[in-house]
Amino acid sequence: MQNNKEDLLSIESKQAVSSYFGAMTFDHKAMRARLPKEVFQSLQETIKAGREITEEIAGVVAHGMKEWAMDNGATHYTHWFQPMTGSTAEKHDAFLSIDRDGTAIERFSGEQLIQGEPDASSFPSGGMRTTFEARGYTAWDPSSPAFLMKGGSGLTLCIPTVFISYNGEALDAKTPLLRSMNAVSKSAVRLLEVLGVTGVKRVKTFAGIEQEYFLVDKKYSAERPDLVMCGRTLLGALPPKGQQLEDHYFGAIPDRVLEFMQEVEHELYLLGIPAKTRHNEVAPHQFEIAPVFEEANISVDHNLLVMEVMRKVADKKGFALLMMEKPFAGINGSGKHNNWSIGTDTGINLLDPGDTPEENIQFLVFLVSVLKGVYKRADVLRMSIASIGNDHRLGANEAPPAVVTAFLGELLERVLDAIESGKIDLKTEKQVLNLGLSQVPVVNKDYTDRNRTSPFAFTGNKFEFRAVGSSQAASVPNMVLNTLMAEALDDMADAMLAKISAGKDRDTAILETLREEITATKNIRYQGDNYSDALQKAAEERGLPNLKNTPQALRTLESKDVQAMFIKYGVLSHEEIDSRLNIRLERYVKGVDIEARTLQLMLKTLVIPDVSEYQGDISSSYNNLASAAAEIGLADKALKSQAKHLKTLAENLSLLIDLTEELDGVAEKLETLDGEFAKADYCADVLLPFMVKVREVADRLELMVDRSRWQLPTYSEMLFEH
Ligand code: ADP
Ligand code: MG
Repeated sequence: MQNNKEDLLSIESKQAVSSYFGAMTFDHKAMRARLPKEVFQSLQETIKAGREITEEIAGVVAHGMKEWAMDNGATHYTHWFQPMTGSTAEKHDAFLSIDRDGTAIERFSGEQLIQGEPDASSFPSGGMRTTFEARGYTAWDPSSPAFLMKGGSGLTLCIPTVFISYNGEALDAKTPLLRSMNAVSKSAVRLLEVLGVTGVKRVKTFAGIEQEYFLVDKKYSAERPDLVMCGRTLLGALPPKGQQLEDHYFGAIPDRVLEFMQEVEHELYLLGIPAKTRHNEVAPHQFEIAPVFEEANISVDHNLLVMEVMRKVADKKGFALLMMEKPFAGINGSGKHNNWSIGTDTGINLLDPGDTPEENIQFLVFLVSVLKGVYKRADVLRMSIASIGNDHRLGANEAPPAVVTAFLGELLERVLDAIESGKIDLKTEKQVLNLGLSQVPVVNKDYTDRNRTSPFAFTGNKFEFRAVGSSQAASVPNMVLNTLMAEALDDMADAMLAKISAGKDRDTAILETLREEITATKNIRYQGDNYSDALQKAAEERGLPNLKNTPQALRTLESKDVQAMFIKYGVLSHEEIDSRLNIRLERYVKGVDIEARTLQLMLKTLVIPDVSEYQGDISSSYNNLASAAAEIGLADKALKSQAKHLKTLAENLSLLIDLTEELDGVAEKLETLDGEFAKADYCADVLLPFMVKVREVADRLELMVDRSRWQLPTYSEMLFEH
């Protein structure tokens, strides 16, 4: 048994990845080897149909899973779930149990596999449960494979679960995502039937998540309270060389970083996560990892694991992993590009233009449905990615703006315009093919990254939602995408059916609906530079929501119409929406409060003392010089220059001291405000801007003070030294 564990832990990099890919997961291969054939088949069918697992089957699966885990060296198991904190949670239990006669034995029952009961009261519920009924339970999600996680010197069996209250309310981020996948499937199957496509039982949504991050040497980050406490720098002057030269993007990856990446990938392969791409990003010390896309819920789970594995490996390698959206002011931030598509269980990507006119029509209907959903629910999409970190990134001049628009590319623009103006009749094969739509590879190539400024860009056979923040779980944005799509697909189907009932033939009904919706959704299409002022102007003219900060974006959840959508599609109940709103507001306010306190601490215990000391140095140097001036024959003018230098330093230090004192008052006022929205607005409108104001003075001083007096590692060191 021990040998087997050694085998897994020490797999040589010489081996082909495919030979150990997924070795740490209880995947099909492991299940087939460990479960009786009937049980394996029954489990697969149950998963496919989304039915509940019987206790009998669960018992056999639990036994097989335990044997597999123990053979690989695991001693403990945990239900692995996603509370509404944006990260994952686990509580380990040993397989070990003591029999009545005192014998030690390893046990893992079907019941333990299916259901767990973590102390739910410590997880945020947003007021959904009163404390006396603070009970929630975790329930096995068999659609996501169980896996073995390395930690310390051992392995733990992790069982992906949902987390719900005893009343069935979702206490996690995963349950609503699974519900949204069901909702969009139902609507898509219905629309396909209207289009005349039968035989599709289920439609799936897929996500391919590109993850950006920074690596900074731990010796620097450990000296920065802001990085330790908040994950982003609250102070720091821009180095003379920023990213102006853009020489980092796709440049050679430094060896030390490459070693980190290789170890991360190795761990991910063992976990069955198809890490595919790695490269340098635009900013110095910024990188990206992208696994191959998978079904949305699996992809979200895997992205959380990617983040966790990266954190562990970074720590081991002496790096701090900065996942926050904007760790350095003035330098590119990090996002999580969420590539999203929708396809049938029969293997058709519904966002793929296809080769025939029928496929083209189907593609256009789904494409326009996306536009319809994104247009109608742009504010909800913006809400789904709102966070402190992302507020600093969105709208900064190198990140997508807070305005959601969709980019289609020139070719599709032309096609939609032609359909709208009635210039083409989609029923004739020749015209469609003439437009080049069928030449997928050409189209694909043409689209890739053509408009990097768009928050929501069509890239050949998928949309790339680029505004997602690097630190957030991708569950919420995918849940929102699926839900708005479910609604849009239904609206499209309804419109077509109404025309058919009015006596129109199907093709006419489809084409008319398409034409109407192309016109109706025109405002969401934006092909220009999204970083420009023109976009801001266009947003205003077109009435597109421009929600500048998190509290503004979160207000979307108060809209009755938005709530009605989530409720109608069975994704979130009224209470669940409320609880999410409460939690996110609270997390925002607490987060800003922590940042303000950290800044105060840094100013008072590091920056002000450092500048004072330096001021002492040059004051005494000035005094000495002044008393020697006559003797050495120093001109008045020369002495005055030095006096001026000292004066500037002293004035800036005095200003910093005053502002720091003022910041105390501004920060304290937060506690006196009533209501979470009042607090959140205060954070966004008063506290954060004030922190920037103080920072400007501190950053100015950084550039005046002797480096040996300045205790904080500088941007130059963190970003340019290896
Ligand atoms: P880049 O945008 O960096 O040029 P790609 O667009 O090729 O790279 O791929 C980025 C991500 O999109 C990858 O995770 C990839 O697997 C994913 N992806 C590719 N096709 C689809 C699809 N049909 N649906 C969802 N994601 C996809
Ligand atoms: Mg991409």
